[in-house]
Amino acid sequence: MTVSRFTYEGVPSRVVFGSGARHRLADELDRLGLSQVVLIASGSSRAEADALATALDHRLTWRVDGARRHVPSDLAEEVAGAAESVDADGVVTLGGGSATGLGKMLALRGLPLVAVPTTYAGSEMTPVWGVTSNGRRETGRHTRVLPRTVIYDPELTYGLPPLLTAASGMSAVAHCLEALWAAGASPLSGPLALDGARALCEALPAAVAEPWDPKARSRALVGACQAGMALATAGSGLHHRLCDELGSRYDLPHAQTHAALLPHVVGFNEAVLGALAARMAVAVGAGRASTGVHDLAVRMGLSMALSELGMPESGIAEVAAEVAADPPPNPRPVEVAGLRSLLRAAWEGDGP
Ligand code: NAD
Repeated sequence: MTVSRFTYEGVPSRVVFGSGARHRLADELDRLGLSQVVLIASGSSRAEADALATALDHRLTWRVDGARRHVPSDLAEEVAGAAESVDADGVVTLGGGSATGLGKMLALRGLPLVAVPTTYAGSEMTPVWGVTSNGRRETGRHTRVLPRTVIYDPELTYGLPPLLTAASGMSAVAHCLEALWAAGASPLSGPLALDGARALCEALPAAVAEPWDPKARSRALVGACQAGMALATAGSGLHHRLCDELGSRYDLPHAQTHAALLPHVVGFNEAVLGALAARMAVAVGAGRASTGVHDLAVRMGLSMALSELGMPESGIAEVAAEVAADPPPNPRPVEVAGLRSLLRAAWEGDGP
């Protein structure tokens, strides 16, 4: 990458990382002076949420179990109203990007957020919020939604099933690779993105094969943190734009959509990236990054056809037209014909 000028804005969150780090939650809340928090937990995290609720003791004022994907705006309104009625002074999220995303909507209204992620989504490291209503996604960027503290405990990911591990991990790889060519890419974000991609591509197969492997789980979670930071500082581009469009239009599963689309967007840009394409390939551990991420996802058992994830064939033309009408900055010009063939290949599940 030849860069003569750039702007870089780092992520100011405090990160507490390590096996058993979740047991430090009460101390971290005390450190922030939070004494009446709302706990938002993914449905899958109910048992762990019970344990956290006990540890929070008098600091817990109200609890929400079951965040829904894509953060429906009516749920965000309902939870924000309830948090106000119990006079909450902060919010704790436990779960994947859906729980974090719901917590961010309270943070946007002024409640300090502490996030305890249990997937590799990376949302906890970005100032980006998003809500969905009537199939349309509204997103925004505000430093207020960044968690004050993020507690990463790899033990919380041991129960993430292999296919979710693989898909969520590939969405983090997507953050890393797109951060390399996004409009805000810089010499400060690039090394982080490459290191995150390498960590994820090396650790994910081991975490899928042996979910209780502490080394693989730790490395993958560090990679996810780096991925979120890289995305936050470099921004997103064509890949995330297509995923958001597909996810909100057809209610596709977020992480799996990332995994299926990534090889094709990387392949679309690879030819014009020059030396960066070679660095990406090294990070992914393959001759070409596009085939590398495809083979990795297939090896971990992921379905690579958007048609199997619920995207209708008519979506190829619809999404190509929508995105080409207002294209994101991208190394290779984005036009309808190119997008159609990219989406067709991803819909059919072909290799890049
Ligand atoms: P998710 O939070 O919906 O979790 C996926 C599934 O995994 C859910 O069923 C959940 O209950 C389950 N789960 C979570 N942790 C588990 C665990 N440890 N063990 C077992 N099951 C577990 O999905 P996600 O992929 O984590 O996040 C996707 C969402 O995050 C999307 O809405 C996306 O838009 C958002 N996101 C936002 C940003 C941002 O910067 N704002 C970045 C990345 C993702």
